[in-house]
This record gives sequence, structure tokens and C-alpha cells, in this order.
Amino acid sequence: MEKVLVVGAGGVGSVSVTKMAMHPEIFKEITLASRTVSKCEEIAANVKERTGVTIRTAQLDAMNVADTVALIKETGAELLVNLALPYQDLVLMDACLEAGIHYLDTANYEPEDEAKFEYKWQWAYQERFKEAGLTAILGAGFDPGVTSIMATWVRKHKLEGIRLIDVLDCNGGDNGKPFATNFNPEINIREVTAPARHWENGAWVESPAMTHKYEFDFPAVGKKNMYLMYHEELESLSTHFPEIERARFWMTFGDAYINHVTVLQNVGMTGIEPVMHNGQEIIPLQFLKTVLPDPSELGELTKGKTCIGDIITGPAKDGGAEKTYYIYNICDHEECYAEVGSQAVAYTTGVPAMIGAAMVMNGTWREPGVWNTEQLDPDAFMDMLNTDGLPWQVVELEGHPEF
Ligand code: NDP
Repeated sequence: MEKVLVVGAGGVGSVSVTKMAMHPEIFKEITLASRTVSKCEEIAANVKERTGVTIRTAQLDAMNVADTVALIKETGAELLVNLALPYQDLVLMDACLEAGIHYLDTANYEPEDEAKFEYKWQWAYQERFKEAGLTAILGAGFDPGVTSIMATWVRKHKLEGIRLIDVLDCNGGDNGKPFATNFNPEINIREVTAPARHWENGAWVESPAMTHKYEFDFPAVGKKNMYLMYHEELESLSTHFPEIERARFWMTFGDAYINHVTVLQNVGMTGIEPVMHNGQEIIPLQFLKTVLPDPSELGELTKGKTCIGDIITGPAKDGGAEKTYYIYNICDHEECYAEVGSQAVAYTTGVPAMIGAAMVMNGTWREPGVWNTEQLDPDAFMDMLNTDGLPWQVVELEGHPEF
């Protein structure tokens, strides 16, 4: 395989194609397509300047199967990397099946008119991909993505199984703005305003959004408040590792962020139902996105580090008592900007998407069917994280922290 088509010229797409261009031995021909072709051209110019590689650009509305199939055929792509928004996942999976090529994304499908994150729609494609001899990889960003692959690595090399898992996502970065989201504001705000949900003893436990808070001392970042949230990998991890007793997801937010989201929610600006404004139908959250800073423009301003990883407890491999491991990556916003021209949130998503794509291109992950990242062998992916900008560490803790 030599040719890849990346759809979505946002922050994540920009990092991904830049890192692909740094691996010409794997990605021999890269096409970047998006609705706004000028964004693709801007990214292509940045890639050329940083790597000397010329990538192709194309205009595409990825909500249209026929246009996507035509573009796949025209480019000769063998893998489609979907870095547009999660509303497009099913259309792009259909297009891959029709054109006979492999698929990879970083976020699970959600209907545009309902903030509902569930894998059932994409898991329903399992038989069709299997029968076609094609591979679809779901959720190959950082979380979901690396955090699930880290769990598989710990389960393969350190523990017999996973009893407790807490995914901890800390962004200790500061962009100097009173309020800005780290990635697509629409997706980010849909996520944080949804009720919190975690998996415990075979059932989902729900609580109101942002009500469970804990101060955790993150390596290289320091103490930050993290909040219990629902995140899509909880569904796939608890399905694929049925021994899990409790799975939770935590994300850090500063007080200013929480205050802004609360006010915006209270005044109705985070709504996804259409409202009439001056005779025109608008969706409040989409209007809010228009007036908020564009996350891809914040790279130059963002300082500090991210620390994302898992704390996992389970029976030890050596047959001894239970052990607890903390496995994580630390990423520096300014170093990311110097390397690819984007901040760490886009970097920590775009690099894993490139590595996942490399795994498909080089045949490491080519089993026909639809797979979440924890179902795949972690070793080659984990090695590439170390060599491609996201080195990780694993330390043993004295028991699972109480929070
Ligand atoms: P952006 O909003 O910056 O970029 C999305 C891109 O998709 C834009 O360039 C947009 O182009 C394009 N796009 C949107 N709709 C269409 C369409 N119908 N047809 C073609 N192109 C379209 O998002 P990010 O780069 O921040 O995020 C990309 C994806 O990664 C999202 O799905 C997000 O949920 C996911 N993500 C995953 C993470 C993880 O760790 N797993 C973390 C962060 C993000 P245009 O503006 O021209 O329409």
C-alpha cells in the first residue's frame, strides 16, 4: 500500500499529514481533502516548507458517498483517514466499502442532532468489512486511541487482566484567552455538557455533568482539578475486556473554563436544537463555535504540557498479588508548535492517527473487520509512539489511588 486519503483539514488533519510526510517510506502519496480547499492548500504549503514533500489537495463534502467514492478512485487511495467531524463516520465507512479501501478514524459516530456517543452504529459494519476483506480502525487518536492501546499493552506485558482502569486526561496548557476550547468547540462542548457516566460492576452509573471533582498531582504538570466524564472508550473497553470491574474517564478543567461553560449552558448557547434568529434557523452551539477562537490558531499562544494516560490495577502476571501501573505520555505545547506548527492537543491526536494509518499501510493491523484499538496488537504502535514524538512511561504505584 502506498496511497492515503485524509479527510478533514482541521487541527488534527494538519498534524497528521505533516507527520505522514515525514515517513515517505510508508506514505508515498498523500491527498488531503476537506470542504474548504483553501485550508488544505494552507496545510500543504506548511508541509512542503517543513518536510519538502508535496501533498495533493482536493475539495470534498464528506457527507456525500458518491463524491467520496469518486475522489477515492481518482486518487487511487488504499486507506481513508477520517479526521473530519464524527457526524461523517458512517458516510465515509460506506464510501470505503463501495470503493474497496480500508478506513480509520479518531472519534465515534454521533448523530449531528443528538449528543449521543455510541459505537453501535459503527460496530454494525463488522460483517460488511470482514466480507469485503477490509479493515476499519475506530478511535485511533489519543483518547480514544493511545489510552486504549496502553491498556492492552499493560494487559499483555504486566497484568493478567484489568480490574480497575481510570483514564486521566490533563491539559496543563494555557493559551492566554479567557475562554477557548482545545479542539473543535462544538465537539468539546457537546462532550463536557453531557451527563457523566462510568462503568461499575456490569452497569453504567450516571451522574450530572461536572459534579465529581478530584485534585490530582500530574507528572510534569502538577496539581489540577479533574472531572469525571463520559468518554467513548469506556464503552469499547468494558465490552472488549469484560473482566473490568470499574472504568472511569477524567479530564482536567480550570475554574474559568467551568464558569464559562456553566454560563453558556444557562443562557442556552450550548443547545443543538435549531432556533429562529432574524428569520433564519441557527443552531446555538454552531453559532458559538463561529465566535470562539479557532483551536488551530492557538498553537503559537499555548504554553505548558499535557499528561494523558491510564492508572490500571489487576492481577500480576507472575501470579502474585494485584499490581497498579500508571502509564502516560507528557507532551509540550511549544515543542509541538516548533515541530509541526500546532499545539499539543492536535498533536497528541494527529500523531496516533498517523501511526494507526502506518500500521494499516504496512500490514501490521490488517485483519478484516471493524476494530477498536484495544483489540489490536499494541507493540509496534507503542514503539512508534516512542520514535515519533509521543514517548511514554510506565511506573508502578502502591495501590490504586482513592478518588
Ligand atoms: P476541526 O473542526 O479543527 O477540523 C475538522 C475538519 O473537518 C475541518 O477542516 C472541516 O472543514 C472538516 N469537515 C467538517 N465537515 C466536513 C464535511 N462534511 N466534509 C469535508 N470536510 C469536513 O476538528 P479537529 O481537527 O479538532 O478534530 C478532528 C476530529 O478528531 C474530530 O472528529 C474530533 O472529534 C476528533 N478528535 C479526537 C481526539 C482523540 O483523542 N481521539 C481528540 C481531539 C479530536 P471545513 O471547516 O472546511 O468544513
